[in-house]
Amino acid sequence: MDDAAYFQAIPKAELHLHLDGSVRPKTVLELAKENGVPLPIDDLAKLSDFLEANENTASLVEYITFFELPIAVLQTVPALERATYELCEDLKHDNVRYAEIRYGPWLHVQQGLSLTDVIRAVLSGWTRGRKDFRLEGGIIVTALRDMPPAQNLALAQVAGRFVSDGVIGFDLAGDEAGHPPVLHEDAFRLARSLGLNITIHAGEAAGPESVRQAISMGALRLGHGIRAQEDPEVVATIRENGVQLDTAPTSNAQTKAVRRLQDHPLKRFYEQGIKVTISTDSRTVSHITLTREFQNVVAALGCSPEQVWAMNLQALEGGFGDEVGRARLRHEFVDAEAMLRRGRVTG
Ligand SMILES: [Zn+2]
Repeated sequence: MDDAAYFQAIPKAELHLHLDGSVRPKTVLELAKENGVPLPIDDLAKLSDFLEANENTASLVEYITFFELPIAVLQTVPALERATYELCEDLKHDNVRYAEIRYGPWLHVQQGLSLTDVIRAVLSGWTRGRKDFRLEGGIIVTALRDMPPAQNLALAQVAGRFVSDGVIGFDLAGDEAGHPPVLHEDAFRLARSLGLNITIHAGEAAGPESVRQAISMGALRLGHGIRAQEDPEVVATIRENGVQLDTAPTSNAQTKAVRRLQDHPLKRFYEQGIKVTISTDSRTVSHITLTREFQNVVAALGCSPEQVWAMNLQALEGGFGDEVGRARLRHEFVDAEAMLRRGRVTG
């Protein structure tokens, strides 16, 4: 069994996954037609290209522009339900068993939905999808850096009502430069008090100071965090506080958090004892699956398959989902991998 087959077959956990960055191109096309959203291109193959960032993408700001069309079509309850359900199906094909799906509800109120409508729609797609495709995990609600702090505070308030329905975390994303996380400290304090786990995107478009701030706001899991590598003191803070970095190497190279994929610090961080996990970030925009991302990490970053497996277990370990479900999956993961490994040795 080669690496590709092995990585496809192992049960996987993915913690950093944006709904709006992972809508199937065919679904974008159909929803645009159904809802009268103007399309730049009417051909599926060309639309797929249009929706994908690549190594020529210049920055996080440019990367975020690839989300505009998917967001424009996700403005109704059926569209949000469908995209979430289909993402669950795509996760199943990638043999992901534990997933945390995130999105920013404020981006989906352009045609009159309330925050509550949006959160309910995504939870409905998730509830159906997780059952049909045997997933554990939950939904992370994302606040946006460039929103007024009061709007993120309102979002935390609404999200907190859905803690027992599958919303497990509160996140901060968006253009990092010039929008420090501390502006949204009140929203995060409230989210935590309502029982939501905290994660923050940091150290992607901005440097180590952004990482330091995110940790000081109580985030023990960071989206990416990789530009911490520019300051050994911040790297030490990450390690000493057991902060987990949920990285997405292909996306990180596209947003220019690293200049090239080969410059990614994942392997070095792992070997320094930092908790690191691998995700796709955005399956459509980054044109990637978790299986392929695991292969990239071996081919481009020089990680061993054993290291990748350890990072995969870390993702399950560090998930926000309930401990009972994760403990059950831990056994399943370990047993399945042991069997596949024996197959690799003998086959
Ligand atoms: Zn992200």
